[in-house]
Amino acid sequence: MSSGEICPNCAIEQPTGSKYCDRCGAPVQGEVASKSVKKMSKDEVQSVLHWREEKDQAFKGHFASPIPENMRGQFSGLNYYPVNPSYRLLCRLNKYPNPASVMMMTSTGEEREYLKVGHFSFIIGGKTHTLHAYKDLRQEASEKESLFIPFRDSTSGIETYEASRYLEIEETKEGEFLVDFNKAYNPFCAYTDTYSCPLPPRENWLEVEIKAGERKYIE
Ligand SMILES: [Zn+2]
Repeated sequence: MSSGEICPNCAIEQPTGSKYCDRCGAPVQGEVASKSVKKMSKDEVQSVLHWREEKDQAFKGHFASPIPENMRGQFSGLNYYPVNPSYRLLCRLNKYPNPASVMMMTSTGEEREYLKVGHFSFIIGGKTHTLHAYKDLRQEASEKESLFIPFRDSTSGIETYEASRYLEIEETKEGEFLVDFNKAYNPFCAYTDTYSCPLPPRENWLEVEIKAGERKYIE
């Protein structure tokens, strides 16, 4: 009988005290490697605000905007929390040597296949939380590793879009990832139901309020 941890990759229960999964080699108790990068320079804050402005411009004017055409005239920009450096964490990815493939349901009830490549463990509000990172199997292999992190949190359906918010993160040179919730954004299905957007698996439902990034489109 074993009564240890559950492997975060393949969900197999491990013998007590195991550091790596017997079956897939994934770190069972990943490194809690978050440094809160609380200091943000004026330029860094500006760059987040600039990114939001550019997105508003594109959503208002671009032909491929997810805002339905008949709504663009009255579109006055997306809603955000103020930029908050406490929600900006420098994390190491606990990588899985043999990533499991996972099916994510989409907002229109289809299934889409992803690879679960690892997880981040970090501390917010004095508690450790975990987010799993995925790769879209349809994506071309690129030199820069870009991770897809759909999540829900305790603000979902209250102040933020109920179905999901997304983070997309590129690896830094040092193998660290800046998990910056100020850049959390809504999937396109938040604006109109013609999009089929992947929904976060249960393992990516955070039990903490992430009061950063994009809020509900229509409050
Ligand atoms: Zn495993």
